[in-house]
Amino acid sequence: MSPLSAPRCTLVGAGPGDPELLTLKAVKAIASATLLLVDDLVNDQVLSHASPSARIVHVGKRGGCQSTPQAFIHKMMVQAVQDGEHVVRLKGGDPFIFGRGGEEVEHLRAAGIEVEVVNGITAGLAGMSSLGAPLTHREHAHGVVFVTGHAKPGDSGTDWPQLAATARQAKLTLVIYMGVSSLEHICQGLLSGLPAQTPVAVVQNASLPTQREVLTTLGELVYNVQSERLKSPSIIVVGDVVQGARAWIAQPQTAQKAA
Ligand code: SAH
Repeated sequence: MSPLSAPRCTLVGAGPGDPELLTLKAVKAIASATLLLVDDLVNDQVLSHASPSARIVHVGKRGGCQSTPQAFIHKMMVQAVQDGEHVVRLKGGDPFIFGRGGEEVEHLRAAGIEVEVVNGITAGLAGMSSLGAPLTHREHAHGVVFVTGHAKPGDSGTDWPQLAATARQAKLTLVIYMGVSSLEHICQGLLSGLPAQTPVAVVQNASLPTQREVLTTLGELVYNVQSERLKSPSIIVVGDVVQGARAWIAQPQTAQKAA
């Protein structure tokens, strides 16, 4: 059996939503799959690259149903690979930024299965780029922290006051995933280490035609997100780099087009 026809599993990052943000490698992997297991944040348009004979299984929370339990997804992947399928596990953004890709790889490798990982553009990158601003800038930020706002059950979660103090001292941009539902708690913690006027951007559905954003400050974050009714999936970016997004958005449309 050639390495290409050997049963295997490929974890593929489908990017933040815009189907044109797929990598060429992701397109090739999707086209070669016999079974695609698809997360709910994956845009269905990327499935147009799949072979007509491929089976497509949605394992997310579509239609308000409960998402498939992680243990069941693990079992399904292992079984399908052992049955000789080429399984492509399509995950939103990058497979190794949150979204439990790490656990899936560990599980597959423990079952003796070869796993390939194809990177995707993570939502944290797409969020700020879609506002025309960078996450680092030599004047404003020396680095970036990708952090989850959603702790695993039984885990005390991120120490927000500590993170805020570090971000201030080391000039770091904070990029918070899965933060909208715990916004008040996160905001309260961050305000104990960062000034209330720290710029914040919240981007919902980044890179999609349905994208919406709020540009605000830490002090007014909760109020503005609630009044604009921003929901998940959203990325929250905290730091002085957000000033770049403000400047870009404030420009007249004609100036943006000419740029
Ligand atoms: N692996 C994914 C992240 C999975 S966690 C990635 O690399 O992007 C799910 C969280 O990602 C969401 O709660 C939200 O915070 C963020 N997210 C995913 N897609 C998004 C999008 N299009 N716009 C804004 N946030 C998004």
